[in-house]
Amino acid sequence: MELVIDHLSKTYPNGTKALNDVSLRIAPGMFGLLGPNGAGKSSLMRTISTLQQADAGTIQLGDIDVLREPERVRQVLGYLPQEFGVYPKITAAELLEHFAVLKGLSNKSERRQVVDALLQQTNLYQVRNKNLGGYSGGMKQRFGIAQALLGNPKLIIVDEPTAGLDPTERNRFHNLLAEIGEDRIVILSTHIVSDVSDLCRQFAIINKGQVLYTGDPLRAMEEVRGQIWRRSIRKDELATYQQQFAVISSRLFAGQTIIHVHSLSQPGNGFEGVEPTLEDVYFARIHAAEQVASAAAPVAK
Ligand code: ADP
Repeated sequence: MELVIDHLSKTYPNGTKALNDVSLRIAPGMFGLLGPNGAGKSSLMRTISTLQQADAGTIQLGDIDVLREPERVRQVLGYLPQEFGVYPKITAAELLEHFAVLKGLSNKSERRQVVDALLQQTNLYQVRNKNLGGYSGGMKQRFGIAQALLGNPKLIIVDEPTAGLDPTERNRFHNLLAEIGEDRIVILSTHIVSDVSDLCRQFAIINKGQVLYTGDPLRAMEEVRGQIWRRSIRKDELATYQQQFAVISSRLFAGQTIIHVHSLSQPGNGFEGVEPTLEDVYFARIHAAEQVASAAAPVAK
């Protein structure tokens, strides 16, 4: 089953153009949707999840017309929203059981089996009788995955799942996602580049409602090989460098400012070539799009 998004656009009533002619083809496996805050990721996720309408375009999931047949989508969809609220005074086992009833699992012993298996899979079985209010952020997210997996969905959408998780919990969550992404479409929306490089065989970069790139992370890095350059500078030199070069990122390392520059040829003295990371690809694409946008913008008077 493939998810095909074709020329999708959405403008909110206040005039914000959140999706601007988005087209994507998503095959089974983990797909990363990468973009900064405000890029339009949640708007796209909510539209695919049938929680909001688009103004134009189509979404096809296998033989389902997503925008016209929301009930059919909901039968094969698991969704973990950005803010996953839980009732604090109920246990994981009770709430999952409740969701299972809502999903239509009416046979009690079958339901118990499904709930127990999901609690095992998400590593929550030992704490299944604890109130959700006492769960850590990572445990809540894993519970969110357990409820999203109810009914064995063909399409799973997880919106910014690792923000706020500590490294151990993030790692555990990654392993869980990798496991569930083996035989269905899992779309992972995130602004964290390493979520995508760790997990996804396919990804897209989205910014200001537009798809800037789609493909596979290894090839994306290959495409900018020989074009990413690094040098350390003084902090007060940053603005000058930004004027002269396509500075795609700057960061502090051991008290020094290290910049990465995107350039087809050696930019000058003091720059050394580096092996591109997915972060370089991401920043280079966003930087190039911003340059195009600012060149097209009318000059402020
Ligand atoms: P992301 O998930 O990538 O952070 P969103 O899809 O949440 O991006 O937002 C895209 C743009 O649409 C942002 O400029 C945001 O402020 C705006 N936006 C999101 N939801 C609404 C809404 N309900 N009404 C108006 N503007 C919205």
